[in-house]
Amino acid sequence: MKEILQNLKSEIVEKIKFIKNEADLENFRLEYFSRKGKFTEALKKIKDVADAEKPVIGKIANEVKKEIEHIFEQTKNFLTDDVTVKKEKIYDPTLPGLKKTIGTLHPTTRMIHELNEAFRSLNFEIYEGNEITTEEQAFDNLNFPPDHPARESMDTYWIKLQKIQKQKNIKILNASEKYCLRPHLTGVSVNYMKTHKPPFQFVYPGRVFRSEATDAGHERCFYQYEALIVNHDVSFSAGKILIKTILERVFGHEVKIRMRAGFFPFVEPGFEIDMECQVCHGLGCGICKHNGWLEIMPGGAPHPNVFKAGGLDPKKWQGFYINVGLDRLVMMKYGIDDIRLMHSGDLRFLRQF
Ligand SMILES: [Zn+2]
Repeated sequence: MKEILQNLKSEIVEKIKFIKNEADLENFRLEYFSRKGKFTEALKKIKDVADAEKPVIGKIANEVKKEIEHIFEQTKNFLTDDVTVKKEKIYDPTLPGLKKTIGTLHPTTRMIHELNEAFRSLNFEIYEGNEITTEEQAFDNLNFPPDHPARESMDTYWIKLQKIQKQKNIKILNASEKYCLRPHLTGVSVNYMKTHKPPFQFVYPGRVFRSEATDAGHERCFYQYEALIVNHDVSFSAGKILIKTILERVFGHEVKIRMRAGFFPFVEPGFEIDMECQVCHGLGCGICKHNGWLEIMPGGAPHPNVFKAGGLDPKKWQGFYINVGLDRLVMMKYGIDDIRLMHSGDLRFLRQF
């Protein structure tokens, strides 16, 4: 009997160490001290002990009981003591304060703001167009031949508006017109021409959408930034200086560019501007596909058919388009090697800016 009591005491002392909260404590109490608890049961057995041993065993049982009650009370006091309230009452000026999380602008947004600022200082207006556009605005106005591959659904997201119209009872202005998510920004420029009188110069940033396979250099939704100057006399050399000036404002240092011939349906003649890779400075790296240069913007003089679509006389007016691949510029500026990171929403990426 003496051993039973001693073992029970060691068991209880050991177990009480693992009590973390009041619920644990209550379970513990029920296990040992309730009417059918282990300790209560053990005490009941004292009556079966031989009479001669009863006083000794009774004394031991009493000591064990007292000890256990003491430990139990201590644990109970410790758990019910409102530690949090005490902590709140003490003001400790040496504790570090709570850090506020402040959001920052996405690198693409930041680049748009920087370009807007650079162009605005050169007296350009900032203009915006709709992301949903018509086939006429996206292709016909821009001198895309009817069989041009870019019209295929492979590249362009066509919208089944008639279906949506039936489902949601929406009225469409021109039901015979085909609608799409704009595959490029240039269509916006014709809308501007139709509603403004030249001479003018303006920029129009925005998102465009193309149905293509994604990889480190291609996304289905990406940003472009375009500019158009229309005046009586616009020279390519002045345009090239403008591009260099803008890029140097954005990058904060001198940049090397080169202009070479390029063909696009909406320009005649057209050009392609390459910029020396800002990541490897012309030495060759993964971003520039190891040739030291990166195509960053096509452009050219608006095709006579584009002027006509915009309601302007091509014999009277000259123009200069710049079509910046904005994401590529952002990637160059911040050394980002995968375009898919830009829309990933990954905070580890975004927190770097
Ligand atoms: Zn490079």
